Amino acid sequence: MPIAVLIVAAGRGTRAGTADRGPKQYAALGRSTVLAEAVRPFLEHHRVDTVQVVIHADDGERYESATAALDSARLVRPVTGGPTRQASVLAGLEAIAERSPRCVLIHDAARPFVDAATISRVIEALDSHPAALAAVPIADTVKRATEALLVAETVDRAGLWQAQTPQGFRFAEILAAHRAAAHAGRMDFTDDASIAEWAGHSTALVTGSPDNTKITTAEDLVRARRMTEGQLQQTLPMMEPRTGTGFDVHRFAPGDSVWLCGVEIPHVARLDGHSDADVGLHALTDAILGALGDGDIGQHFPPSDMQWKGAASRVFLADAARRVAERGGRIANVDVTILCEAPKISTHRDAMRAAIARVLALDMSRVGVKATTTEGLGFTGRREGIAAMASATIMLPA
Ligand code: MG
Repeated sequence: MPIAVLIVAAGRGTRAGTADRGPKQYAALGRSTVLAEAVRPFLEHHRVDTVQVVIHADDGERYESATAALDSARLVRPVTGGPTRQASVLAGLEAIAERSPRCVLIHDAARPFVDAATISRVIEALDSHPAALAAVPIADTVKRATEALLVAETVDRAGLWQAQTPQGFRFAEILAAHRAAAHAGRMDFTDDASIAEWAGHSTALVTGSPDNTKITTAEDLVRARRMTEGQLQQTLPMMEPRTGTGFDVHRFAPGDSVWLCGVEIPHVARLDGHSDADVGLHALTDAILGALGDGDIGQHFPPSDMQWKGAASRVFLADAARRVAERGGRIANVDVTILCEAPKISTHRDAMRAAIARVLALDMSRVGVKATTTEGLGFTGRREGIAAMASATIMLPA
């Protein structure tokens, strides 16, 4: 049974307080817009074969950009609506008449939270009724008020329901009812089920959803964004922090510069090693591998392998960062301490932080580099070599 969907998006929506930035149906919602979120559940519903949006004459560009990410052949070119919601629906019905759908669902663009089950219930009700609408029973006590905001009476809420959309109709019947209403000059209906009632069609109620609210005011938009944020959060993996440490030592050998944390520093000796012997980057690489529980630098880059002879140690660090990304993680911060009497580190500290930040694609504020002497004690105190220790904190999907 071919089912067409009409989404009414021609309103100006000034009550949502977005008039300066455009009508509410084009307001941002999550990674999308109110309109795109209202359209998407219908495009994804297996019973729907055409979705027709009715827009305002001024909104062509807004519509194009709001629906650019909705990749579906079932979304047909928009048509322009009229001065009232009722006129816009009629324009939409006339536009899809040539497709001869058996049934049509009419939905407000300002209801972005309609779910597939509600859509299914409306469609199923059309098997036995010419019209059906989603609705929720009124839970609160209902008062009728005077103009002075005094209670005139308490209305018995038994049997009272709040009408939502989608509202579904057998196509020929609702088109005829809309044409008849327009012909009779009756342009005051606030929803399409009222027109079906006016035309004498039996209209069924099906259970809607309390989440299927209409965005009318600025507060509604704030609430809708909060709901969307909550949904986005639930789709993100829970992340947990992991910490690793690393330690490395290289001895001095005759030479005139040392590589420390990716920076070459003039010195009275060089550091001896298979690669460039950058003791700081080696300790840091091990810290990241340690946080991953993924071996150590010697296992991934064995000194026996000639291809790493004289290698720049940033290659090892970049490989550790790649392993973090592969696991869906990210590096939160790293910290390196260099232990030596000389060379002096402080003047090179920021260059070292920048070099590490570049390799790890981190902001410099997430990179610490510190140095200390060992008060002349031990092998570093005797200037036989340099030691470095490091820690890394990474966030991994739990
Ligand atoms: Mg080493």
